[in-house]
Amino acid sequence: MKYSVSSLNLYRDCPQKFYRAKIKKHPPDEVSDRFYAIYGIVVQKVFEIFYNEQCWLMKGNLLPYLKEICRKEFASLLKTEYVDWNKHKLSPQQFYQECEDAILVGLGAIKQEKLLAPYAKSEIWLHHTLDSGHILNGRVDFIFKYSDKDVWILDGKGTSSQNADKWQLYFYALLYYLNYGVIPNKLGFIYWRFGTVKFVKFKPEDLKPFYEEVLQIIEQIAVNVKTRKWPANPPKGCFFCDYKPSCVDYRIYKRDKRAAKLDGDPLFEGGVKKGFVDEVSF
Ligand code: SF4
Repeated sequence: MKYSVSSLNLYRDCPQKFYRAKIKKHPPDEVSDRFYAIYGIVVQKVFEIFYNEQCWLMKGNLLPYLKEICRKEFASLLKTEYVDWNKHKLSPQQFYQECEDAILVGLGAIKQEKLLAPYAKSEIWLHHTLDSGHILNGRVDFIFKYSDKDVWILDGKGTSSQNADKWQLYFYALLYYLNYGVIPNKLGFIYWRFGTVKFVKFKPEDLKPFYEEVLQIIEQIAVNVKTRKWPANPPKGCFFCDYKPSCVDYRIYKRDKRAAKLDGDPLFEGGVKKGFVDEVSF
């Protein structure tokens, strides 16, 4: 079986969610709003080309070229992805402008953080086959190699907060090490909306326990496959879960939470409370 960081994260959030998405391959209960994803994909595409085509050598033509990539990527995504425009209170044109604005902000961050190494590539696939036959794979947003021992891994984020989970970066560092025998010395996120680069705390000795954690998760998944038991884990992971509308465990969680809130309220004492909660929670 192949494991990417996103599939392992599904499992970390909730084994039931992992089962439905990766084992049973259930389609999502609802078509999800892709507003935030589109922003991230468009900006990432611009900077993927910036690095892989060495666009910094273009001088005066750079900005029009990057804007053209931005425009084409945005137009193509809008043809296939769903956006709830009412919810975001933005027109497609205004949203496009946000994406285009990220180009200058991103170029500013690249200049400030000197993200132009002799080896500077984007969207690099890394794979590793474990002794168990399972495969770890990941597509790294950016790798900068300043020398054999000075390697940075960065991931671009289009989020409106700057607190992404560093687990993803550790996973890429592990893959890099398993492929090249070198542990990257800097891991960080580029937050496109803010034009900031934030490095996470990471020491080479962090990698071994992390690797053990990944192997443990994979072993646990094998146990779940064997026993056919996939426990749910509400509320962790429920907020962004595609299966929330049909998830019985989530409903039970909500019902119990509501019941706990009513506990102690004289209006809902004894049997009245339980019956009432069961009725109104669904
Ligand atoms: S709604 Fe919550 S409990 Fe249900 S599958 Fe999704 S993450 Fe798991």
